[in-house]
Amino acid sequence: MATLFIADRAVIGGLARGETAVLEDGGEIVAVGDPHVVAEDPRATTATVVRWRRKAIVPGTVNAHNHSFQSLLRGIGDDLPFLAWRDRALYRYSPRLDAEGMATAALFAFGEMLLHGVTTVCDFYYLNAGGNDHASATIEAAKRLGMRVVMARCFYDWDGAPASYRETVPQAVSNFQALHARYHDRTRRRVSVQPAPHSQHGASAAMIEAGAGCARDAGVPWHIHLAEEQYQVAQSLERFGARPLHAVAKLDVDLAAMNVVHACWFDEGERALLAERGGRLAYCPGSNMFLGDGITDVVDLAARGVTIGLGTDGGCSNNRVSVFDEMRACALLQKVARTDGQAITAEAVWTMGTTGGARLLDLPVGEIAPGLRCDLVAVDLDDPSLWPEQALAKNLVYALSSRAITDVVVDGDVVVADRRLTRVPLDEIQARVRHLTSDWSRDEGADAS
Ligand SMILES: [Zn+2]
Repeated sequence: MATLFIADRAVIGGLARGETAVLEDGGEIVAVGDPHVVAEDPRATTATVVRWRRKAIVPGTVNAHNHSFQSLLRGIGDDLPFLAWRDRALYRYSPRLDAEGMATAALFAFGEMLLHGVTTVCDFYYLNAGGNDHASATIEAAKRLGMRVVMARCFYDWDGAPASYRETVPQAVSNFQALHARYHDRTRRRVSVQPAPHSQHGASAAMIEAGAGCARDAGVPWHIHLAEEQYQVAQSLERFGARPLHAVAKLDVDLAAMNVVHACWFDEGERALLAERGGRLAYCPGSNMFLGDGITDVVDLAARGVTIGLGTDGGCSNNRVSVFDEMRACALLQKVARTDGQAITAEAVWTMGTTGGARLLDLPVGEIAPGLRCDLVAVDLDDPSLWPEQALAKNLVYALSSRAITDVVVDGDVVVADRRLTRVPLDEIQARVRHLTSDWSRDEGADAS
C-alpha cells in the first residue's frame, strides 16, 4: 500500500521550498513535487494520505557512528580522561550485559534517536561475546522500532580488553559471515551488516586485514577508529614505524571501501592519502569535544573531496544522540578551530548529516528523491526555534530544538507520530533501562580504578 505525505514546506537538496508531496510505494520514494501534480500519479489514487499541516518535510538524518550499549552508561563516566572513562565505565559495566541487556540498550539508544530524527544508525558493535546473539538482539530491537540499522560487526583481538570483546581471526570471520548471511537485506535495505576492525590498538594487523577482506567479499564498506587521541599516533609510530593511516595503508586492505572514524590527529600527509585513495570519514564532533580528543581538520578534508558523514558516537561520550546536534557542533567547532566564521556553512554540515552518511554506509537514503528509500522527518513550523520561517534551511542546522521534531518515517512506515514512538511504548523502554541499571553508579565505577 502506497502512502502520500503532504506538508506545507520541505527542504530538498538543502533548499527550502513550499507545499510538497512525497509519494512512496513499498518503502521507495516514487514521486516528489507539487501536491497537485503528484496526486495525478496513478499510484496516488489508492494511497493513504498523511497530511502534515504547518510542518516541513526534511530527509531523515544518518548517524554514521554509534555504540548503542553506551547509552546505558550515560553520565556514569563523565568528566574523566579517556583511559579512566574507558576503564571505569566501559570495561566495568559492559561485560555484564547479556542479549536481553543488549536489546534494552538498543531500544533505548535507537528509540531516543528516532525521536531526534535519526532514521539510519550505524552501530559499531564490539560486545559480541564470541557469537552473534548480542548483535542479533540489537538488530531485532532496531526492527521492532522500525529503524534502519547498519550493524558494523567488530573484529577485535586485543587482550587488554574484557574477554567478551575478543575473538580469534577465524571466529570473527565466520561469525561475521553468518550474521551477514542471516540479516543483510539487499531489497529494502532495512538491515545491513558490515565489518568493523576496531582500531590499531583493538585489532591486530591480521584482524584488520580479515575485516577488510570480509568487506571485499560481501561488497560492503568497512569501518575503523583511527587517530582519535594524540597518544594513538605516538603508539602507531612506535609499533609500526608509521602514522596511523600510513600503517593501515601498508596492509592488504582497500582504502576506497574504508570509513575512518575520528581521524582527529591525521596530519597533512594522511589527509592527502585518505583523499587520494577514496577513503571516507565518520566524524563525531560532539564526542571528540566531550572526551577532549582533538579537532579533525574537516574543512581541509572536505576541500580535498573526502566524503564526510556525522556520528553521535556512544551515548556516554557526547551525551546526545541527535545528528542535527552534530551538524551544529561540527560547524561551530570548525569555525572556532580556524577563528573564521565562514570556515564552513550550514549547507555543508547538512550534507554530511544526510547524504554524506548515506554514502559512507552505501545506502540509498539521505535525500528526498525518487528511487531512494522513504526516510522522512517532519518538523513543526510553529516551533519558535525555526523562526523566522524564511531562513528554514539555516535554522534547521543552527537553531532547531528537538521539540520541533514531530513525525518520523522509515522506509515508508510512520515510526514516530506526534512525538511518540509508534511501535514500542517509551514506558516499556524506560522500565527496562531502570531495571537493568538500578545498581550501576558513578561511585562504584570510580572505586574500581
Ligand atoms: Zn566509536
